[in-house]
Amino acid sequence: MSLALAPEYRARVRRNEPLSRHTSWHVGGPAEAFFNPRDVQDLAAFLRGVPPGVPIHWIGLGSNLLVRDGGLRGVVISTHGTLDALERWSETGVRAQAGVACARLARQCIKWGLGPAEFFAGIPGTLGGALAMNAGAFGGETWQHVRSVETIDRSGRTRKRTASEYRIGYRQVIPPQPDEWFIAAELHFERRPGAHAGEVRTLLERRKASQPIGEWSCGSVFVNPPGDHAARLIEAAGLKGFRIGDASVSEKHANFIINHGRASAAELEQLIGHVRDEVRRVHGVALDTEVRIVGVP
Ligand SMILES: Cc1cc2nc3c(=O)[nH]c(=O)nc-3n(C[C@H](O)[C@H](O)[C@H](O)COP(=O)(O)OP(=O)(O)OC[C@H]3O[C@@H](n4cnc5c(N)ncnc54)[C@H](O)[C@@H]3O)c2cc1C
Repeated sequence: MSLALAPEYRARVRRNEPLSRHTSWHVGGPAEAFFNPRDVQDLAAFLRGVPPGVPIHWIGLGSNLLVRDGGLRGVVISTHGTLDALERWSETGVRAQAGVACARLARQCIKWGLGPAEFFAGIPGTLGGALAMNAGAFGGETWQHVRSVETIDRSGRTRKRTASEYRIGYRQVIPPQPDEWFIAAELHFERRPGAHAGEVRTLLERRKASQPIGEWSCGSVFVNPPGDHAARLIEAAGLKGFRIGDASVSEKHANFIINHGRASAAELEQLIGHVRDEVRRVHGVALDTEVRIVGVP
């Protein structure tokens, strides 16, 4: 790939960066070019140097991504550890950049006496990933709180868009136009002076009791079909513990697939396919993946 980059960027782009270092499943082949911007201006200048036709991918904390073993062609923009400004801009309004970790957002909202933001505490991703996924838990969803977002496109142009410009559903976000990514959002909460860390602890304990926290996973692999739960369907199909190579369906929560240490992306994808086929055969239900599967096999 020939990237017409200024010398400064040439030195900062990591070539053939293993994406297994950047995903919670710890699998994934190399990114052809991997870039961690310093700030929005730096990002805009970098994007302007990416030739048209070179694919651009974004990664936050990689907690909802299955990158195939052949890796990703083109450029991967990583917001991990950067674009992480978080401020209160009004009595109930918060502005957060896309690289802010959801857990930090939850903690800070509690300090500010704002809520309900506790649900963000258990989502091990960035705000950018949560915006892309409409991540949610325990009845809360990211876009319930979005007033507006700031985006950037491949020409480096930034825009402010209102929430109403997006079509939002359960784990679904349809943007007004493709190839535009989130750099920040203005979020709105309620005054909750009583909100405290105890509520977060309770939610995290509930999570720990029902999910294999601490093992390598991507959270829920499938979205829940209307009126049912993917985990119930998978368990009822007798798939708990089913294993391919070093990947298995969790014994604790059937919608989680665990990498026990040496699974490849191909094994994980094969297991996802097997679960989907079995649930269709046993229940007649077609499951859709929540995890985003990207890259070259
Ligand atoms: C143990 C565990 C528990 C989980 N529990 C939950 C849960 O309760 N609820 C829930 O909803 N999810 C849950 N998840 C899934 C995951 O944490 C969320 O989907 C999270 O929002 C992903 O954020 P991320 O930064 O890791 O995104 P990534 O996995 O890095 O990316 C996910 C998608 O978002 C895109 N993206 C990332 N950043 C941007 C950006 N700035 N602009 C545009 N697109 C972007 C990526 O290209 C990709 O398509 C869980 C995952 C794990 C491992």
